[in-house]
This record gives sequence, structure tokens and C-alpha cells, in this order.
Amino acid sequence: MKIICIGRNYVDHIKELNNAIPGEPVFFLKPDTAMLIRNRPFYYPAFSDDIHYELELVLKINKVGRHIGKEFALSYFDEIGLGLDMTARDLQENAKKKSLPWAVAKGFDQSAPISRFIPANHFSDFRNISFHLDLNGQTVQKGNSGLMIYSFEDIISHISRYMTLRTGDLIFTGTPAGVGPVKIGDTLEGWIEGEKILKCEIK
Ligand code: MG
Repeated sequence: MKIICIGRNYVDHIKELNNAIPGEPVFFLKPDTAMLIRNRPFYYPAFSDDIHYELELVLKINKVGRHIGKEFALSYFDEIGLGLDMTARDLQENAKKKSLPWAVAKGFDQSAPISRFIPANHFSDFRNISFHLDLNGQTVQKGNSGLMIYSFEDIISHISRYMTLRTGDLIFTGTPAGVGPVKIGDTLEGWIEGEKILKCEIK
């Protein structure tokens, strides 16, 4: 399986990192070895001094598809969860400056803590799913799928023009504003529609 991550999908987050609003969805990959499941702790890696959290809605793909039309895209996932797109911001900034890929900054081991998944039919409106992240009990990120520049169907249709989607693939749909650094001892908790489904301790 693969993990596909959308970058720059919330205007407020684009502004906080001084990036431009993209003309089409920007995406990148994390390898399956990035996955961190069952609320296991995240071990701060030695190669970075600036690891950031980014809480995102995650779609789990339920069938094979390519060149998926937007009108069919919503039938290609049936579960929604939360994920943390853990980012070595120092390595990413260095890569951006040199126009190098983000693979290391975004795809290192444990860079994708992922919650349990909730059946998609539990959500009445895919354009109104609220989620938030608490850092040591204080809310630091608040998002709603209605604020995404590119909707779930836009994202699925776009990615599948280039890469075949397969059962079990995960799509991180972008992060809202409020990203920031973690330090050893911190606890991150992700909530979706008022339910806590993700916990990640930084060790
Ligand atoms: Mg992200």
C-alpha cells in the first residue's frame, strides 16, 4: 500500500507557511514504513531538531481505480480516520531551498501516526467534518473539511490520473493552520466530530 498526502489544501495553513495557493492539488508520498498505528509512541528522530505535527483527515481506499471521474470518486473510500503528517520542518526547508524532494522530510519511519477508522457512512456530510488537535490538552489546530480547497472527490480524481489507487491505500487530505513543533514528553490527541480517536506521545 501507499500513503498519498495532499499539501496546501487549506488557505489558512498556506498563509502560515508563506506558500502560494496551488492551481491543482499538490501531492507527495510516504512509504508504508511511515505508518504508526494503535496509538504507539513517536520516537523523536536524531536527524531533526524541528519535528512538526500536521493533523489531517485520512481516507482509506476500498477498491482499485484509475482515471476516476469526480462523480464516482466518493465510492472509492468507505472509511475515514485521522493522521498526523509528521514533518521534519528543518529538512523540508533545506530541501525547498535547494529544490530537492521532500521524501526524507516527510517519509521517515513513524512519520504517519494513524488513528482507527470510522465507516464513512457515519458522516452525514463530507463537506462538513470537523476535527481538531490538542497538544498537551490545549487545542492547537481546528479544521473542517468544508474549508478544503480541493474536496475528497477532487483529490481522488486528481491523484488517480497519475497513480492507480489500490485497496488499503491511504490519502492524507491536507492540514489546516496551527502546525507547530513537538518536543519529547508532549502528547498529541486528535478528535473527529467530538470523538477522540488518535493519541500520540512523543518519546
Ligand atoms: Mg500535511
